[in-house]
Amino acid sequence: MNKLDTALVTSALKKNGFIITDNTRDSDVVLINTCSVREHAEEKVFSHLGNLKHLKKNRPGLVVAVIGCMAQRLGNKLFDHESVDIICGPTQLPQLVRLITDAMQKKTRQIEVQQNIRKKPTAQQNESLQNFESQYSVTDKPAPAQAFVRVMRGCNNFCTYCIVPLCRGPEVSRPPQAIKQQITKMAQQGVKQITLLGQTVNSYEYKNGEKTYCLADILETANNIGTIERIKFVTSYPGKKYFKQIIQAMAHLPKVCPCLHMPAQSGSDKILKAMNRNYTAEDYLNLITQARQILPSITIAGDFIIGFPGETDQDFRRTMDLLEQVRYRNCFIFRYSPRKGTAAHKNLADSVPAEVKKERNSELLDAQKKISHQLSRTYLDKQVTVLTEGPSKKSHLNDIDNNDNPQLTGRTAGDYIVVFNGPADLAGQFAKVKITKVSPWTLFGRLIK
Ligand code: SAH
Ligand code: SF4
Repeated sequence: MNKLDTALVTSALKKNGFIITDNTRDSDVVLINTCSVREHAEEKVFSHLGNLKHLKKNRPGLVVAVIGCMAQRLGNKLFDHESVDIICGPTQLPQLVRLITDAMQKKTRQIEVQQNIRKKPTAQQNESLQNFESQYSVTDKPAPAQAFVRVMRGCNNFCTYCIVPLCRGPEVSRPPQAIKQQITKMAQQGVKQITLLGQTVNSYEYKNGEKTYCLADILETANNIGTIERIKFVTSYPGKKYFKQIIQAMAHLPKVCPCLHMPAQSGSDKILKAMNRNYTAEDYLNLITQARQILPSITIAGDFIIGFPGETDQDFRRTMDLLEQVRYRNCFIFRYSPRKGTAAHKNLADSVPAEVKKERNSELLDAQKKISHQLSRTYLDKQVTVLTEGPSKKSHLNDIDNNDNPQLTGRTAGDYIVVFNGPADLAGQFAKVKITKVSPWTLFGRLIK
């Protein structure tokens, strides 16, 4: 979601004559797009702001903007930090260009955030966000031929640990027609893969007269758009509503990739209840079984939070059991981070000691690593189709095929990362690769075509 917001802001700034640079020392304006999900992400922002303070001493005209979730969460308080000139929440991003221009010309501080974040955005705000998204030009996004498309904003779930509903506001689904127009425009600009985004993307719901649209309808619409070749979507909430319809759409629509990201968060019913997740471990497993029955090739990814208040060894064992039963392709494992304003922060003590969180984290990660390695080994000697992203950031040890071509990365339809040597102009193109080596998270191979 933040990557998309960054791309939208970049696109709007370019349209208004700004030039984008990665080098803080060259710039007149520094934008920090922020995440509030865990404390650590916010600490990094404060550390950046600390560095900018020194830079500003030599360059008093430098304008610093904090945008996104932290701006919304902390509001005015961010002005306590002397480096900050602009505070702009996620709902106000369409106004960012004006805020920057005002800050530069009038040399005054600017702030735009939602006064009451749980209040439905006004019709005018929805329209302005709608226009902001649809003007997005994807011609120079980071991964060639790929783009994100937001289908809904906000979240109404209130998982007790989570700050998102208090930063991004109530759930609002975008009109299907606007989504269709946007994907069509992206396809005309050369996009081959789109990823539909929503905090709980499978609860997408839009009523228009008699008809209620769900995510399966959006998948079908996207599938019918000519040059789009791959469709992915994140993140799914483990709820029954629309679930079967969506998995059936994945099975029947050839362009929809067989990968599902559906976080369980915990395998203990007691903890799930305390998290306000509205399902049991058994309910979750039933959904996985149903998905695999309808679409046997589906790959599953998930998230877990370990060390939630009250998590005992026994609760943790249940999480381990669930992880082993599901056999995820990949899991993101997070240590619980108390967030001010959430129900868990208010009502429950952060009772699991840091040491225990650390141990459980590495135990769960080791178990997942084993499973991921077993699953990636099944790709050895097989041929996969990869949408090439570009040169590999790390120089991976693809010793099996070290020719003069650069080392490239890309992804399979099932979301596996593939590393191979090939000509740089394959970026944005599909490639056939034969897999000759695997690690838990990465496949390595030789370019065939
Ligand atoms: N909307 C998505 C993801 C939201 S945040 C969903 O519901 O799946 C991404 C992940 O961060 C969550 O899935 C959760 O595992 C983790 N997370 C959220 N709040 C957290 C917190 N307070 N501490 C640790 N991890 C957290
Ligand atoms: Fe946060 Fe839960 Fe909403 Fe996901 S579903 S964004 S974890 S409140």
